[in-house]
Amino acid sequence: MASCQACVLTCMDFRIQTAVANWLRDKGLLGQYDYLSLPGASRNFLEEGKINLVEDSYRLHQIKEVYLIHHEDCGAYNLGDLPVAEQLARQRPDMEAAARILKERHPELKVHLAFLYLDGRVVELA
Ligand SMILES: [Zn+2]
Repeated sequence: MASCQACVLTCMDFRIQTAVANWLRDKGLLGQYDYLSLPGASRNFLEEGKINLVEDSYRLHQIKEVYLIHHEDCGAYNLGDLPVAEQLARQRPDMEAAARILKERHPELKVHLAFLYLDGRVVELA
């Protein structure tokens, strides 16, 4: 069965797609990841069934890593009026909750958290 290195869960927002793809390419992951692009990335990870999509990737492609990528001015969070540091602070608990759930179910998975600024910078949080 085919396998790949990672599963990426990021927001569907068109403004971030090029920067996300470039960042993943720079990590050497080009062609090595399943890609999930949904509103708010890991927001409501359990409630919206996003966990099931990541687990499909795990089951089908034996992924080793998961990248959860959130971003500035995310419409799913509607925090655009706040300073970007505050936007990140409000999104981060959702990212950490999703990471915790994944690690509980699959302790061997590496889970990376990243935040993308609309100027294209990506900061890895964990
Ligand atoms: Zn978004």
